[in-house]
Amino acid sequence: MILLDNVTKTYPGDAHPALDSVSLHIEPNEFVFLVGKSGAGKSTLMKMITKEENPDSGKIIIGGIDLDYVKKRNIPNYRRRLGVVFQDFKLLPRRTVYENVALALEIAGMSGREIRNTVPKVLELVGLLDQAKKFPNQLAGGQQQRVSIARSVARQPKILIADEPTANLDKLTTEEIINLLKKINDFGTTILVTTHNESIVNNLQKRVITLKDGRIVNDQKINGIYKLDATPAQPPQRTLQTPGHALKKQPKVI
Ligand code: ADP
Repeated sequence: MILLDNVTKTYPGDAHPALDSVSLHIEPNEFVFLVGKSGAGKSTLMKMITKEENPDSGKIIIGGIDLDYVKKRNIPNYRRRLGVVFQDFKLLPRRTVYENVALALEIAGMSGREIRNTVPKVLELVGLLDQAKKFPNQLAGGQQQRVSIARSVARQPKILIADEPTANLDKLTTEEIINLLKKINDFGTTILVTTHNESIVNNLQKRVITLKDGRIVNDQKINGIYKLDATPAQPPQRTLQTPGHALKKQPKVI
């Protein structure tokens, strides 16, 4: 569960808050898109969840953990409970695909045996088992993002957050990555994705939260579509076939 209650954050020197009284409740196993123009506050909201930034006021509870009580030295430990996927993949260039995933598990304290057991399974999940010995620069962008996703789901996090995970990918690869996130969601992981990609949001029809100037201006809980302001989407206007006065009682035609 992701819970933000009245969260406000103004960066030092900024005239306006990056997040302004944001309240948000995401249930376990939801798939949520976070949309909004550049500067709307999406990254800041993500940074609140990863505790890269702290709110000036308000409460944040992630997976039952009240972030007010996560001490600085425990932040890395807390972050390991989340899966985090980045726009630029953040893979270690001198490590193979296998090692990139294995290292994340090693850092999390998993035994060698568990790691040897887990890594092939996750690589299979993301469709990269046959690329295990390659280095990141030998892979296409979409494949690199798959490795990054494999690395973040290997520890089976309850929550996966992804800030613009498809920004550097072409249309087809974007669809593949989103399908992979959907599959991970189907296995029971809560997913929160920021994106500017209108078509993936509209195709998936999941929950869509829109931020504008640091505020949530729209929260479409089901069948959400991409829209950047508060105006609800209007169904196409039905044009009347007859002028108003013609709607008066008409003689019955038999
Ligand atoms: P988005 O991810 O939607 O583009 P951001 O969360 O990056 O939006 O930014 C929200 C607002 O906060 C913007 O006005 C931006 O200029 C400001 N901001 C973001 N990061 C910083 C920072 N480190 N220092 C000062 N202002 C920042």
